[in-house]
Amino acid sequence: MEYDVVIVGAGPAGLAAACRLRQLSSDISVCVVEKGSEVGAHILSGAVFEPTALNELFPDWKALGAPLDTPVTEDEIYVLRNASAGIKVPGMLVPKTMHNEGNYIISLGNLCRWLAGQAENLGVEIYPGFAAAEILFHEDGRVKGIATGDAGISASGEHKDSYTPGMELHAKYTLFAEGCRGHLGKQVIKRFGLDTGRGTQHYGIGIKELWEIDPGKHRQGLVVHSAGWPLQESGALGGGFLYHLENNQVALGLITDLCYANPFVSPFEEFQRYKQHPVIRQFLEGGKRLSYGARAITKGGPQALPKMSFPGGLLIGCDAGTLNFAKIKGSHTAMKSGMVAAEAVHAALATRGQEGEEITGFTDAFMDSWAGRELQLQRNFGPAQHKFGNVLGSAYAFVDINLFNGKLPWTLSDDLADHEQLKPAAQSRRIDYPKPDGVISFDRLSSVFLSNTNHEEDQPCHLTLRDPDVPIRHNLALYDEPAQRYCPAGVYEIVENSEGGKRLQINAQNCVHCKTCDIKDPTQNIVWVTPEGAGGPNYPNM
Ligand SMILES: Cc1cc2nc3c(=O)[nH]c(=O)nc-3n(C[C@H](O)[C@H](O)[C@H](O)COP(=O)(O)OP(=O)(O)OC[C@H]3O[C@@H](n4cnc5c(N)ncnc54)[C@H](O)[C@@H]3O)c2cc1C
Ligand code: SF4
Repeated sequence: MEYDVVIVGAGPAGLAAACRLRQLSSDISVCVVEKGSEVGAHILSGAVFEPTALNELFPDWKALGAPLDTPVTEDEIYVLRNASAGIKVPGMLVPKTMHNEGNYIISLGNLCRWLAGQAENLGVEIYPGFAAAEILFHEDGRVKGIATGDAGISASGEHKDSYTPGMELHAKYTLFAEGCRGHLGKQVIKRFGLDTGRGTQHYGIGIKELWEIDPGKHRQGLVVHSAGWPLQESGALGGGFLYHLENNQVALGLITDLCYANPFVSPFEEFQRYKQHPVIRQFLEGGKRLSYGARAITKGGPQALPKMSFPGGLLIGCDAGTLNFAKIKGSHTAMKSGMVAAEAVHAALATRGQEGEEITGFTDAFMDSWAGRELQLQRNFGPAQHKFGNVLGSAYAFVDINLFNGKLPWTLSDDLADHEQLKPAAQSRRIDYPKPDGVISFDRLSSVFLSNTNHEEDQPCHLTLRDPDVPIRHNLALYDEPAQRYCPAGVYEIVENSEGGKRLQINAQNCVHCKTCDIKDPTQNIVWVTPEGAGGPNYPNM
């Protein structure tokens, strides 16, 4: 099938690009493919949403019924000192990036569902349940489009009765908007050397739950952020969030930076401990957990942003790494990158002879937009945390951002990739996490159940190993196989084999598509590829 523009991924970046393209010209044919069973099914975010990009894209979003129903009314930040004590940080000492006046507490999944409706009204074709599995190239090396994955192939590679071959979608321009650690985006970066001369990319894993709480404890519009315990006790970095949405619901989660060194760290168990802290637990007692999920975030900042253009396409949103880590927000910047991309593609299509030619000015156009400038001013927040830890790093950020407005004339960086940071198990402290109480804290399997994750079982494993011996020979021996702990869905288990030895069992049907294994595996031996379309989590309003 031929289109002017094919977009991979119906997240904020992809959908904003699709809408903007059709606003600019109803002659441009636009198609979006989405691997989730429906738009929003794979979207997981906090989310406190900054409406800057939405105000530009749909100035009348209120009249159009956009699901932004809860303005932020209160902002609280805590430094959790230990399992029982926490200090509320006075407002005047909070970096201004963490102030949320004018923002909304939303479900990003629901916002994407609404954006998809707007895109369809503008004439965009959206195909949920179709994973882009392969990039197609012209003979001269330009990207020609994508192929969706075949369906109906058995685990042993044979065609089942249900076999349906994938489709080729050809386009003058293909926009990759797969979100953090995109499977195809990663290939595009490598093939075109887009990260040459750029800083090292960094990531975090965010684990989130949605609860319905006692109405007497609910304060719609309250935003709570925290740093310190429990991650600090485990030598890890990151922070927690708890947002009071509408309908007596709260969204809460913990983001663990994936630069941690101790292979015994378990982001999932850290989140279970986090919920037990009195500052958080007070809201959850008497409440009911509704949903669970996890997703990685790209947080390296503008110093790690690859070149975003290549012949035949562009890389946008968190697939490139447009998140503002100082704000822990990436939706507004992802949307803006999609809108700038749409304007660049529209201009290129309007100029004869430009079809598929590289839009070389796109990275600069994005960096010159308010979103790029915002990233630039707050570029030192993430590396400062890596260098000085959460508390001193935040103090540094306060000086850099509040006092110097991000204009200090240097750029910090952390050149060691997250997967290179682990220390051998023999040199690391074992961490004994408490057993779940089944009330506030839970185990992985009951959690994954709440993500409504579903994969066709008889299909090739989408968690591929470059070398099947590495998990036992290298990872287990040296690091006690950290995949057992960093995977938030219990996919990786070390079990006994029939000869009394050990083997890695991969429960691929539990995978919530967070991409942590693809990022943190110490030898980059695990490669996440797209499973059959529509497989994966089915998040409601995450
Ligand atoms: C725990 C957590 C909390 C966060 N909190 C906030 C917050 O409070 N505020 C904020 O602004 N931001 C927050 N973020 C960041 C924000 O969610 C992201 O920056 C934003 O979602 C990025 O948008 P995107 O469109 O680039 O990617 P995504 O939102 O990840 O969307 C990508 C889409 O592409 C689809 N896709 C991927 N690969 C393929 C493929 N090969 N074929 C077809 N479809 C594909 C995915 O299924 C998905 O629907 C948070 C993130 C996390 C994980
Ligand atoms: S297998 Fe990998 S991508 Fe899937 S849930 Fe586990 S860590 Fe995330």
